[in-house]
Amino acid sequence: MNVPLPFALGAHALPDLVRDAAAAFVERDDRSPEARARLVIQLSKLSTELDNGGPFGAAIFDADDKLVSVGINRVVPWGSYEFHAEGVALALAKTVAPEHFMLPERWSLVTSSAPCCMCFGRIFWSGLRGLAICARREDVESLTGFDEGPIPDEWQSLLRARSFTVTEDILRDEARAVLAAYKGPLYQRASGDGPAQ
Ligand SMILES: [Zn+2]
Repeated sequence: MNVPLPFALGAHALPDLVRDAAAAFVERDDRSPEARARLVIQLSKLSTELDNGGPFGAAIFDADDKLVSVGINRVVPWGSYEFHAEGVALALAKTVAPEHFMLPERWSLVTSSAPCCMCFGRIFWSGLRGLAICARREDVESLTGFDEGPIPDEWQSLLRARSFTVTEDILRDEARAVLAAYKGPLYQRASGDGPAQ
């Protein structure tokens, strides 16, 4: 399937299965909050299945909830810390909004898990005014061992004070199931049943 969405950042391109998932979402034309959440959860699962990437997916939607861009974790395959799912989706969205420094404020980000400290900063400065999240920060840290970093406890309030609409816990259980199934290279559960790091 071919949809006119951005899938490449310089020499890096998202895998075909990610493009197919985005195209299928566009074709279904269900832009409900649950459908958008289901897309990023599907992307989080693909991120792991493709090459053991972190189990995270994100997507950006315009004011009509039409899909603008998608992202999955590409830190290992693309070789840089910056390529978290949210970062990939934000950077790809910026390629189709080159006329401004910021992304349009009526666009919004949907992400399979609460943002880490780096992504929180990028979201904060992005120009967006909408953020919807499936799994919580504590889900990420307890189920995968990934460290979300030093993010303020009141991060949702900080975004709302900046006129963001923040929605949490959308299909949280489905997102948690993907996190719980993660057995990638950074797998290091607090319970100690993962490999030593
Ligand atoms: Zn992040």
